[in-house]
Amino acid sequence: MQNIYNYTEEMLNEYLINLNLKPFRSKQIIEWLYRKKIDSFDEMTNISKEFILKLKEDFYIDLLKCIINQQSSDGTMKFLFELKDGNLIESVLMKNDYGYSLCVTSEVGCNMGCVFCASGMKKKKRNLETSEMVMQILSVEKIAKIRISHIVIMGIGEPFDNYDNVLNFIKIINNPLGLEIGARHITVSTCGIVDKIKEFADFPLQVNLALSLHAPTQSLREQIMPIAKAYNLVELMNSIKYYIEKTNRRVTIEYILLKDLNDTKECANNLADLLYGLNVYINLIPYNEVKEKPYKRSTKNSMIEFFDVLKKRKLNVQLRREQGSDIDAACGQLRSKHMN
Ligand code: SAH
Repeated sequence: MQNIYNYTEEMLNEYLINLNLKPFRSKQIIEWLYRKKIDSFDEMTNISKEFILKLKEDFYIDLLKCIINQQSSDGTMKFLFELKDGNLIESVLMKNDYGYSLCVTSEVGCNMGCVFCASGMKKKKRNLETSEMVMQILSVEKIAKIRISHIVIMGIGEPFDNYDNVLNFIKIINNPLGLEIGARHITVSTCGIVDKIKEFADFPLQVNLALSLHAPTQSLREQIMPIAKAYNLVELMNSIKYYIEKTNRRVTIEYILLKDLNDTKECANNLADLLYGLNVYINLIPYNEVKEKPYKRSTKNSMIEFFDVLKKRKLNVQLRREQGSDIDAACGQLRSKHMN
């Protein structure tokens, strides 16, 4: 028995062909699942009883069990879900002027070990299945009674460490017959797995790529992000250049501002040197402090000074407003609190 939300249209077609059925059936199934959002195969009225029985033999339809649902004063909502095997994951729903966006978790825990991050305090237990990512969207839409228009794969986990499942997830939610979330409305964020960044350049959908850079030099990056020891900054920037050349798309650079660590004017100038001339958009992010960690958020002044240096050097940059900080919305905080 398989969770049917693991299946892309291609996979459903293959399943149908093996049963000697016409592939157009997959379009009907997708419509029922993602448009009409049925919770039982019996509701598929344009499908024969016989085929419904077969579907029921091979698949099940399910949603996630929500155990905590917090709402912030700014409208941000945080969900803690329990998976079938008892593992916990979180999703964050943000309300923007352009619609609702959901921050999706890609792994149970995370092995990347970024020193400032709450998620990494709990080691990775396993990859999420494609369906477990799809169900985050469907479950949140159902609970909050809204439609999600934007997806950021920036929750717990490193999406490029669960590459195949994440790509299938993107294909499923982008499918025009189903949830139809536009590729340009989907962002996948990586801490910098160089091989996968290169591979992702061949992915046919126009999805946004975000890189968690957080430091402008190898020595500083190594101090705060262990992944920098596996892939150095030169290799990393080369993979980004390759990606931009191959796809012609702008890459988002995420940069958390950590007090007295990576928020100096010297860092800003180094960052400008590193990124100058590249088709990138820099997102400066106020650090969400984590109780167990010594790192502090930069002062307003340092943030503005940092921003000004980049602006003066003609880089595309924005200082991101923060959301949901009164509800443990920083990566992994709710899950980690609940597990302790
Ligand atoms: N592993 C992926 C995606 C998950 S983390 C990545 O590294 O990009 C999503 C983003 O949140 C990353 O940029 C990460 O560095 C950042 N982040 C982690 N902890 C944070 C915190 N406490 N405050 C602000 N941003 C944080």
